[in-house]
Amino acid sequence: MVEIRIRNSRTRRVESLEPTVIPGRVGMYVCGPTVYDRAHLGNARPAVVFDVLYRLLRHVYGPDAVTYVRNFTDVDDNINARAAQTGRPIAAITEETIGWYLDDMAALGVLEPTVMPRATAYIGEMIAMIAELIAKGHAYEKNGHVLFRVRSYADYGKLSGRSVDDMIAGARVEVAPFKEDPMDFVLWKPSTDDLPGWDSPWGRGRPGWHIECSAMAHELLGDSFDIHGGGNDLLFPHHENEIAQSCCAHPEGSFARIWMHNEMLQVEGKKMSKSLGNFFTVRDLLDHGIPGEVIRFVFLSTHYSKPMDWTARKAEEAERVLARFQSKTARVVPGPVDPRIIEALAADLNTPAAITILHDLFKEDDAPGLAAGLEFLGLNLGGMTYWPEKHDLSRLAEDLAAARQAAMATKDFKAVDALKSALTAAGVAVRMSKEGVELVPGPGFDPAKLEGL
Ligand SMILES: [Zn+2]
Repeated sequence: MVEIRIRNSRTRRVESLEPTVIPGRVGMYVCGPTVYDRAHLGNARPAVVFDVLYRLLRHVYGPDAVTYVRNFTDVDDNINARAAQTGRPIAAITEETIGWYLDDMAALGVLEPTVMPRATAYIGEMIAMIAELIAKGHAYEKNGHVLFRVRSYADYGKLSGRSVDDMIAGARVEVAPFKEDPMDFVLWKPSTDDLPGWDSPWGRGRPGWHIECSAMAHELLGDSFDIHGGGNDLLFPHHENEIAQSCCAHPEGSFARIWMHNEMLQVEGKKMSKSLGNFFTVRDLLDHGIPGEVIRFVFLSTHYSKPMDWTARKAEEAERVLARFQSKTARVVPGPVDPRIIEALAADLNTPAAITILHDLFKEDDAPGLAAGLEFLGLNLGGMTYWPEKHDLSRLAEDLAAARQAAMATKDFKAVDALKSALTAAGVAVRMSKEGVELVPGPGFDPAKLEGL
């Protein structure tokens, strides 16, 4: 069996993934989106990274041996604020946003995880875990709030590698009258009548964010499981708090063994932000005609542990490469996946190395191998009809119209005929009328033959 090795953020070492909890079965939890707005491009990175890992795990252990849980946070103050701004019901906002998210991720070739729990469906489990933490002395209630007692857990800070005192000095910790210690964080908070709330032993209220992942991971994957993932912006405090809650409520287990974090995404070398005007959503790119496969390919060209810089130049280059790959693999039945691709991914999910193998397969003229490699990486080029030539074809139609215009005056139609026969040879039907020139790719269309025209 292929040995998968992953860099564990917790130990800061590359470790072998040996599923020990249930031999031959793998459990993976990845923190999902808070659902009140379209996913921006940075939100898509963990979805794509852990999708590649999911595909690898399914390949190595078998599709039925992997449980991949990715949650939806559908109770959150940002959602409440959006509902107040728009006057729309919360359920309508979260439902719509979940639909958008799934559509956008599907466009990027992201498979649906095994389970996609919504936080609001696990409130009972959260209340039970909070009660357990209070019973064990790790949490306390004050003024309708329940707080986690950070200093009751000696290993707090192990994941992010900081001491509690350093955190207090460096972090923006909220000092509140109901806290014993400024580091203590909210497990439960009271809700006013206009906010979503559930009955609990501490009055009507709603959960803090961190407890939801601990409760859902426990319910769906058990006390101990193999991999916990997310963006490295979640490492502190979210993941640190998840560990504290889970290990204190269920000390018989070890929670996640391997912690895996993807680095952040930038745009043209800068942090994506609304104020810089370089903030866009996945849907913005798709609507501007950038295929999901191109976005995915650009993502996979950078190792997950490195900052990913999205640039227009990279997207154009990716589109050219994929057009070449598509022309090579059109109507080709995929062969077996080249073991070098599996090896590259098994070595800490080295997607840039896997892409290098795709280029090798292209050069080696191994069309079935290339088709299999593309499919394995979730780059479903066959499902994309005639996308790579859309720029070329509209430009060529303009060129042909201009050449015809010129030929009308000179009566020399050589250039027009040459362009027409080159297009026909590439499998494009040329329709010329008074209204203009229309180019329609046919079933034998080969975009590679358009290069140089
Ligand atoms: Zn989480």
